[in-house]
Amino acid sequence: MVNVDEVLSTLKTVIDPELHRDIVSMGMIKDLNINDGKVVFTLELTTPACPFNSEIEQEVREKVNAINGIKDLDMKVTARVMEGRSISAEEYLPQVKNVIAVASGKGGVGKSTVAVNIALALARTGAKVGLLDADIYGPSIPLMLNLNPGLDAYDNKIIPHEVHNLKVMSFGLTPQQGEQNVGIWRGPIISGIIKQFLTDVKWGELDYLIVDLPPGTGDIPLTLAQTIPITGVIVVTTPQDAAMNIALKAGLMFQKLDIPIIGVIENMSHFICPHCNKETFVFGSGGEEKISKKFNVDFLGQIPLHPKIMTGSDIGKPVLITEPNSPQADAFKKVAMITAGKISVIAAEMHTNAVQ
Ligand code: ADP
Repeated sequence: MVNVDEVLSTLKTVIDPELHRDIVSMGMIKDLNINDGKVVFTLELTTPACPFNSEIEQEVREKVNAINGIKDLDMKVTARVMEGRSISAEEYLPQVKNVIAVASGKGGVGKSTVAVNIALALARTGAKVGLLDADIYGPSIPLMLNLNPGLDAYDNKIIPHEVHNLKVMSFGLTPQQGEQNVGIWRGPIISGIIKQFLTDVKWGELDYLIVDLPPGTGDIPLTLAQTIPITGVIVVTTPQDAAMNIALKAGLMFQKLDIPIIGVIENMSHFICPHCNKETFVFGSGGEEKISKKFNVDFLGQIPLHPKIMTGSDIGKPVLITEPNSPQADAFKKVAMITAGKISVIAAEMHTNAVQ
């Protein structure tokens, strides 16, 4: 008769392609039982948004079914996002497992557009997602998600807006007084406001909090990067931006702060014709290789330049919602999945280091 040890040793041969560790020692197999040749267990993946989920699931099925004496397999597949935060970060956002910051070397590269659409793509997978607009000088997220200013409070906590399964907080949603002074506020004041967004907002349990940082490498983004407990940062760039090394400066800033860089996204990399869907690399191709080499970090993917992405952002109807199966929405979904996979790797490394 087949026993639990035999099944576990077979399952140990299944290696998560990103984490490079077997699924048993990663704790992904739960409630394993065998009764008269019928195996029952739960496969708990590290994120619902992992690009390799179906691959892992299929390998598990094939390998277990191939064990001599197995008559039936009842496998439940779930996902529980791992926590990728340092212990010192616990005073802020104790119920948030991972904070993903989105940064850029300069404004206008599509940082907020990318932040919104990645957040929506992750939320579509069933993950619990929040979006914090920390771009205090130019909060564009309320417009991109068609949210009206105004905030409610309950139990001394601010309730974030909720739209498309996303919890959203932005300075642009606060009552307007004081707005005219924003331009002269310095790092400490802005950092104080963001600290309040971290502590006084009822975020609840979140798998991912996406933070749209202010652009550039000046005093404000630097202070904020040090204020927020960031799991990893995504740097958004454009082909021209990459050629001018602007994005490189942003990358170096995060490296100096010891904040892991999840990777780089090249936005507006190529043009997709809205009539025939033909792709044209207006600014040339090869940006992928160039950027990875310069940063020595991963390249997460390219987002096309598409009129619908622009109009979607500008009238509060993101492509992920209006055209979720279009090539432009797929581009965001792909980078979101890759990002979630990389976050799992950072979290797994943190757990390994904590155990050692
Ligand atoms: P940032 O946050 O870097 O300042 P935004 O996200 O506000 O940039 O984008 C700047 C402008 O570019 C907006 O009008 C937005 O709709 C547009 N935009 C961003 N990404 C794309 C894209 N991939 N295709 C077309 N327009 C885009």
